[in-house]
Amino acid sequence: MTTSVDTALIQSLDSAHFLHPFTDFKDLSSRGARVITRAEGIYVWDSEGHQILDAMSGLWCVNVGYGRKALADAAHAQMMTLPYYNSFFQTTNVPAVQLAARLASLAPAVGDRSFQHVFYSSSGSESNDSNVRMVRRYWDLLGQPRRKVIIGRINGYHGSTMAGASLGGMSGMHAQGDLPIPNITHIEQPYYFENAIPGESREEFGVRAAGWLEAKILEVGPDKVAAFIAEPLQGAGGVIIPPSTYWPEIQRIVDKYGILLISDEVICAFGRLGHWFGYEKFGYKPDLVTFAKAVTSGYVPLGGVMVGNRVAQVLIEQGGEFNHGYTYSGHPVACAVAMANLDIMEAEQLPQKVCGDIGAYFAQRYAELNDHPLVAHAETCGFVGGLVLVKNKKTLERFHADDGVGMVCRGHCFGNGLIMRAVGDRMIIAPPLVMTKTDIDELMRLIHLALDRTLVDLK
Ligand code: PLP
Repeated sequence: MTTSVDTALIQSLDSAHFLHPFTDFKDLSSRGARVITRAEGIYVWDSEGHQILDAMSGLWCVNVGYGRKALADAAHAQMMTLPYYNSFFQTTNVPAVQLAARLASLAPAVGDRSFQHVFYSSSGSESNDSNVRMVRRYWDLLGQPRRKVIIGRINGYHGSTMAGASLGGMSGMHAQGDLPIPNITHIEQPYYFENAIPGESREEFGVRAAGWLEAKILEVGPDKVAAFIAEPLQGAGGVIIPPSTYWPEIQRIVDKYGILLISDEVICAFGRLGHWFGYEKFGYKPDLVTFAKAVTSGYVPLGGVMVGNRVAQVLIEQGGEFNHGYTYSGHPVACAVAMANLDIMEAEQLPQKVCGDIGAYFAQRYAELNDHPLVAHAETCGFVGGLVLVKNKKTLERFHADDGVGMVCRGHCFGNGLIMRAVGDRMIIAPPLVMTKTDIDELMRLIHLALDRTLVDLK
């Protein structure tokens, strides 16, 4: 099926009226945006008819792949029954309740932490704003109002709202709009390739990197720290996978100082790491879990926070009215689509696939990229992959930022029908969880092709 679109017309309207996120407006307007017109399975097509394997699942979200009729049917049926109603003023709706109960049943209890409650939003950013409100309210209610500081990580990503961008540690974002807002501070990321001392093992580095949290807590003052927020693995920062020793040490530190742990699983939840939630993969005990994206496989916007018993009990029993919420909190259509999406994930056992046979095949094929002359350190975790492009494989000399190596490689990906994202000199993927072994073979063929052409360009 082709969708006929006048590309030049759409591009000129686009540049005249549409300000894109994370985009140099003037630059895009001069080159013209690529117009994506349709999608099916693991592929998208542009208005020129190019078929492109979407190894980023949209923006880390289309976990069940494109073209799922069951999701469209669920949206249609819910729109015809109850397209919208709010959940303020002591009202509720059936899909929002069903989804909250289902999420609670999917989120495993760990140690003394369990998850019985959900606070809904429409995105990851809004959810992290909600986290800030809940964390501060929690400590106020416990009579510790001095506990205001939330510690995030440099190069972490937690969204684009004022609080989300502040919790994140992206210098480019902080440079615009006077961020971070007060009482948010950051520690260095656990990036072994960049931050390890010569001779240090991955495991030793993991413990040392977690120690930066303790040092920061002591610097701020333990009685002033409210929470630590982190992604299970850093996604938008370039797929930084922590050493196995990192999370256990972080857990020891947050427990020692009694601070709340927020696990931002906007990317890592819903099968991406082979489990329903990312904290299961790394075995830690969060108090709050941010989700969005793949809860609906991106078909409609929905986000939220799984509120663990430690926080929920205080907010419910002692909190009175919580003065916070969104028009679309618990949107019935979004929640109905999420239910249908989870049905597919369960029926097709997508988390099990990722931590089973298919995931192992993906890891094995991706690791072969380590043999490519441009690549240092290609690794995966579940259905997420990252690699560093280096100038000299032996000495691990990095490219200069001006070389734009990631963008060169990304250009070759697009040119050959593959979407792979560039973050500086890192190339990253997060393919749909429905990939077959044949799809993985095709993905690897396309990555090799892009790397080979990048190598020729940079010689
Ligand atoms: N948190 C993480 C870990 C993310 O990766 C993202 C988006 O990529 C967000 C939060 C922000 O989500 P949204 O773009 O839905 O606001």
